[in-house]
Amino acid sequence: MSNFAEEIAELRRQIDDHDYRYYVLNAPIVADVEYDALLRRLRELEAQHPDLITPDSPTQRVSGQPASGFAEYVHKRPMLSLDNSYSIDDLRDWAKRCEKLAEGRNFDYVAELKIDGLSISLIYENGLLTNGVTRGDGVRGEAVTQNVRTIRSIPLRLKENTKQDNPQSSLFADEEVAGPLPEVEVRGEVYLPHESFQQMNREREQQGLPTYANPRNAASGTMRQLDSNIVASRKLDIFCYQLFFDGDEAFPTHQQSMQWMEHAGFKVNPHRRVCKTIDELVAFCNEWETKRDALNYETDGIVIKVNQTRIREEIGTTSKSPRWAIAYKFPARQISTKLVDVIYQVGRTGAITPVAVFEPVLLAGTTVSRASLHNADEIKRLGVMLGDYVFIEKSGEIIPQVIKVITERRTGEEKEIVFPTECPECQTDLIRPEGEAVTRCPNPVCPAKVRERILYFASRRAMRIEGLGEALVQQLTSPRIQRDTKGEALFDQIGQEMTLSPLIQDVADLYQLKDKRDELIALERMGEKSADNLLAQIETSKQAGLARLLHGLDIRHVGERTAQVLANHFSSIEKLEAASVEELSNVYEIGSVMAIAIREWFDNERNQKLLARLKEAGILMQVTRVGTEATIPRLFEGKQFVLTGTLPTMKRDEAKTFIEARGGRVNSSVSKKTDFVVAGEEAGSKLERAQELAIKILDEAALLEFGQATN
Ligand code: NAD
Repeated sequence: MSNFAEEIAELRRQIDDHDYRYYVLNAPIVADVEYDALLRRLRELEAQHPDLITPDSPTQRVSGQPASGFAEYVHKRPMLSLDNSYSIDDLRDWAKRCEKLAEGRNFDYVAELKIDGLSISLIYENGLLTNGVTRGDGVRGEAVTQNVRTIRSIPLRLKENTKQDNPQSSLFADEEVAGPLPEVEVRGEVYLPHESFQQMNREREQQGLPTYANPRNAASGTMRQLDSNIVASRKLDIFCYQLFFDGDEAFPTHQQSMQWMEHAGFKVNPHRRVCKTIDELVAFCNEWETKRDALNYETDGIVIKVNQTRIREEIGTTSKSPRWAIAYKFPARQISTKLVDVIYQVGRTGAITPVAVFEPVLLAGTTVSRASLHNADEIKRLGVMLGDYVFIEKSGEIIPQVIKVITERRTGEEKEIVFPTECPECQTDLIRPEGEAVTRCPNPVCPAKVRERILYFASRRAMRIEGLGEALVQQLTSPRIQRDTKGEALFDQIGQEMTLSPLIQDVADLYQLKDKRDELIALERMGEKSADNLLAQIETSKQAGLARLLHGLDIRHVGERTAQVLANHFSSIEKLEAASVEELSNVYEIGSVMAIAIREWFDNERNQKLLARLKEAGILMQVTRVGTEATIPRLFEGKQFVLTGTLPTMKRDEAKTFIEARGGRVNSSVSKKTDFVVAGEEAGSKLERAQELAIKILDEAALLEFGQATN
């Protein structure tokens, strides 16, 4: 066999296996993007070697197989799949082809959400639901009528439509001549709303059953339940999108079919738009790429259909899919990857967070190699082991999450994840209080805690010291290597590098930095300008006021809101310091747990010393009516920004606050209205789109400079 023939055979074997796992078992072991890549490769090879195409190749049929347990049902009209496009360019090409095939006749498109579920065909005889059938292989499906009947939004009897809605069609009962209705077929997508999906997985977990990877597999698995009582308990829903009927002419447009379905009592998705031009279609796709996060069900793209029935007939259909429709797929959010390591991070309160390290994978435009595993309980809940393949998911702007372990891909080489007993930073014995999920490092001067506390103090919502990011805090709190005048490192008698103490060890030290300007400048990647900027920011932060200061001090149970309440009530630190637990708990919104925590904080000697040093440094410890916000010029007023990729020092949230504090707006997708795209490392499709539209691109340094232009 040639190499190609071998590769083709292997691809077919893999795809068949994935199809079986996906369509029959509802338990895929790779994500859809990975499956699609295999299918694409097979298509490519077959296009180059048409002699190797066989009728049973997965490229030659609508995927899916009827599962056993249900009666088989032969579809009157084949239930086809849809062609996919992954880029706007593909979409434009498709629209051009349609226009060409329409030979100059006028038509428009309908764009609607692609609901991520499973397709169902509903048959109504004489206005009554008689059959509910899955797509199966497109020709034969499974009759799941009993299950379909449990879905409340599927009418068991068609509501009467009146002829007013469409005078030409016999589908509308005529008040005078109420003849029998023809057989009607309505197709739609059965789906599981997010909430029901999560609840269902929680229940399965409690019962020790494997969880579903996504709502689509869950919906599909549910529909194949032989016990319809179980189906009824799972809150499936449907959106209908296609109508056929016997012995009568179809409606002239898709839009009219949809309206008829609505009148007949079907649930039709409200988010659809008739578009005249391809640009309008593109706008709809871009709009929903972000808006989809707000929906309570999953959509994986936009389906675009030619609206006019006549033109559809002209354009035609292949054996797999109609040529008059296309699915524009949104960037995938789920992928599988291998867990290669778990590292443990120490937070500001000493909480130890296990972080999964993966084989890097591209997901929704960025390379992902890490995700939080939250705590020891979560590791246990997932049942994850080192070396496991897992599904990871990224929704919207949110950081990736491990969804589930793909146990089917285990080889036996996987190793248990052993949660550490010592702090990875300072080797202190860790503690996990009874009944708590969090394991903590109890050492108050653990270097990791020190760093995190400084970062928290300097954060936007607290003292807002811009430019004091993670890398810089790490530098400022680490011992410095001693160098000679030529910049060479110095060594002591036993050959160890000689070090100087860190520039800062707590937040009060920040305010002494101005006396160490030279040492600051000497830090790697610092320089005079950045050092002076930083010092100016630190100086400004002194005026942040009591509320921000209290927030920054990180008193247990005192978040932003409580800090504001305390500041408003006491108006100065002296009064707050003097307050008893009772006085504190008398303050509206302050509970006794908070009151005790506040009192404890002020009674602690270490904290008293810190406060004294902050006072000495001249930090405002009273309420301020003029917050730092008011002093930031609104340089970005009316400007629209989009952030993409990882910025060198700023977190996405910080960059967003930075822009918004200056009057700018941050959007999640790039459009013609975007003024600036701020791009960091591994920026993906948004950057490409910005380049396409010739939008100005800024890096972090440019953003900061621009935002401080007149400061
Ligand atoms: P598809 O899901 O990409 O698109 C076609 C389907 O979209 C239609 O059958 C219909 O059910 C649905 N749809 C939703 N909203 C619609 C609307 N408004 N109008 C018309 N149709 C609408 O194609 P497919 O053939 O059903 O399945 C292929 C999908 O399954 C791919 O995404 C593929 O990645 C995935 N798959 C994954 C694996 C795996 O192992 N991970 C295996 C097999 C298939």
